[in-house]
Amino acid sequence: MDNPFEGREIWFLTGSQDLYGEETLQQVAEQSQEVARHVEQSAEVSVRIVWKPVLKDTASIRRAALEANADDNCVGVITWMHTFSPAKMWITGLDALRTPMLHLHTQAGMELPWSDIDMDFMNLNQAAHGDREFGYIATRLGVARKIVVGHASTPDVQAQVGTWARAAVGWASLSGMKLARFGDNMRNVAVTEGDKTEAELRFGVSVNTWGVNDLVAAVDAVDEATIDGLVQEYLDAYEVVPELRPGGPRHESLRYGARQEAGMRSFLDAGGFSAFTTNFEDLGGLRQLPGLAVQRLMADGYGFGAEGDWKTAILVRLAKVMGYGLPGGASLMEDYTYELTPGKEKILGAHMLEICPSLTTSRPRLEIHPLGIGDREDPVRLVFDTDPGEGLVVALSDMRERFRLVANEVDIVGPDAELPNLPVARAVWVPRPDFTTSARAWLTAGGAHHTVLTTQVGTEVFEDFAEISRTELALIDSSTTVRAFQRELRWNQMYYRMTAGA
Ligand code: MN
Repeated sequence: MDNPFEGREIWFLTGSQDLYGEETLQQVAEQSQEVARHVEQSAEVSVRIVWKPVLKDTASIRRAALEANADDNCVGVITWMHTFSPAKMWITGLDALRTPMLHLHTQAGMELPWSDIDMDFMNLNQAAHGDREFGYIATRLGVARKIVVGHASTPDVQAQVGTWARAAVGWASLSGMKLARFGDNMRNVAVTEGDKTEAELRFGVSVNTWGVNDLVAAVDAVDEATIDGLVQEYLDAYEVVPELRPGGPRHESLRYGARQEAGMRSFLDAGGFSAFTTNFEDLGGLRQLPGLAVQRLMADGYGFGAEGDWKTAILVRLAKVMGYGLPGGASLMEDYTYELTPGKEKILGAHMLEICPSLTTSRPRLEIHPLGIGDREDPVRLVFDTDPGEGLVVALSDMRERFRLVANEVDIVGPDAELPNLPVARAVWVPRPDFTTSARAWLTAGGAHHTVLTTQVGTEVFEDFAEISRTELALIDSSTTVRAFQRELRWNQMYYRMTAGA
């Protein structure tokens, strides 16, 4: 995928007022540029920080907000009140602002010069109360924001800004995103349904269906030379089983898998789609359920949901954008089956075929097996174990008047024994805080069985995304208890219904 941070900007907006005189305001400008530089130079922050001239009155604040809204490259604004900036000046600007906001509560110097402090110093370094005045009006107006506190040179502050910048780029990437559904949802499944019109309003994603035979036409149009090239890529990148290799008895099945990959890619690229869904009940003229093709497209950054699950396809794409450049990966996942021995409880996650190989640093095996469901030829697929480590599973449910994100922090541990007879890629994890609490909480929240599993980003980036997008996030982590979680869901229910449309 193209670098989603390329060309993106976050604007650094400093608040002050005219009261202080030219000399002080010059210092405000210089020092705020230094604060912006601290953030800009951090390796944690993947987006360019653009310092803007100090804002001193209502008209210029409103103008800055409108310009941020209008600039497609500007994914967020950082605000900081170096001095006192009477916050009624911010009302019309904050009311107009549609761009994600981070309030950086910092000051120019880290140490107080205790023995030298005079009133000039006090006159200049006023963020301690200037930012509180700003916080009041932001809260009164209900401005969604992340608040980060501390000196801008510290790794902790820079990491928090960097995480938020990832969420802001994720949010920006959804705006105008196009998602292609090949066929409709799997029949009678509830949680994969949802309000596509509302999704475009809330997230900016346009979700539309194409007849699967439109895709078949693109697959059939792929030329043999393209297939030859892909087969060579497979031989270089994977352990291809002998029967699929050139000259092997089932090589033709691998060539058809390559044809599917090239055909799907050309269809998606021609339409400007960055995510898609398939449905094994509706394969039209496709000879195999796309396995390898979907796995490789996901590895290239496309969002994907199986069985028509467009909401999970959005999440997979979002996780890939927000995690871009970080170690690990992101994939469609499904809670498939359990190890229930007391004290050893684990979840084995997998899908029929479509798990993204970005979840492993090992060399996947490229195999062919019967599917055991449906009426098509045996599909080719990549088989591997997900790398052990920390992970996060996130689901998106339509709760009628709103969307709910449910997230669970998990520890990926690998299987208890080799899985020689399981012909699909998989992940084995222990959910936090423990299996029983996690499953009870997940079921109480109405979380989906399809998720995105990401090993690239953690909870904080999804919390930031939820704040930016004003989406409910029900988090299950090491501190979760069922009792408190149930109460939180009930309170959320009331909160989101009361504030709907606000
Ligand atoms: Mn499924």
